[in-house]
Amino acid sequence: MIVTDNNSTANAYNFGFLDEYAKKEIRRAILKAIAIPGYQVPYASREMPMGRGFGTGGLQLTLSLIGPDEVVKVIDQGSDDSVNAVNLRQFIEMTCPGISTTTKTDESSLIQSRHRIPERPLTSQQIIVLQVPYPDPLVVVEPSEDKRKTMHGEADYSRLLVKLYEDIVAFDEITISHRYPTRINGHYVIDPSPIPRWDVPKLNDSAALILFGAGREKKIYAVPPHTRAEPLVFSDVPFRVEDFYDAAGRRRACTRCGCADSFLDEFVNESGSKSYQCSDSDWCDEQLLRVDEVEGEVA
Ligand SMILES: [Zn+2]
Repeated sequence: MIVTDNNSTANAYNFGFLDEYAKKEIRRAILKAIAIPGYQVPYASREMPMGRGFGTGGLQLTLSLIGPDEVVKVIDQGSDDSVNAVNLRQFIEMTCPGISTTTKTDESSLIQSRHRIPERPLTSQQIIVLQVPYPDPLVVVEPSEDKRKTMHGEADYSRLLVKLYEDIVAFDEITISHRYPTRINGHYVIDPSPIPRWDVPKLNDSAALILFGAGREKKIYAVPPHTRAEPLVFSDVPFRVEDFYDAAGRRRACTRCGCADSFLDEFVNESGSKSYQCSDSDWCDEQLLRVDEVEGEVA
């Protein structure tokens, strides 16, 4: 792109910040990742004007995929308003003139997320990009990347299973709360980024394309639409998600909207008591609106 107007900040950058060669390379890596579900495709992660670890991998995917009619949503831990999400969204708005941004999950075509998949089921018209700090689930059992590559190639995850088994011996259950190792399409096991266990079932048979970008580790991988995604388990110890039961065995509800089937964040109040709210802020707003509508009808 030729820079024509130096007075405009927007035009001072190529559309999407990255140069066209970088975008092309990333798109090629994405296509390969889709063709081999769960395989970690290496790519030349570019320097971004923010520290690695702040979502540079996810951002490079977003900027390579973004088109002129895109409607982008950026969330951090389910919230559109946290610092990381706001900064990334502003950067995208600045470097991609003409695109729209939204906080509404159902209006978005491209979602960049840190640590959550929205509660509202995604559609085939949507792509979600997850920011990944550690792409390789085998790193906890094997330090050598060479050896890990062989293990992935042979789908040899025995040492990972031993690790899970040790958890069961020590704690009577698998204690992994985030980054739960998940087998994609019957072969590669991925680190699904630090999403809670609650979100892992959403990877399975998802209508939307799910992409993972690790900037520091220079890896891209994918769960293509309608692909099998199975958390690693044992036949006698089934996978379970967070249940949010209180001491009396009742399912906790969001104190703001009353929803009792969403992933909840725990807040400790000044008095030391705890309260719970939906982690997905757009979902919470939507439920609140629904409650208002029902009450309006009753009145
Ligand atoms: Zn709520």
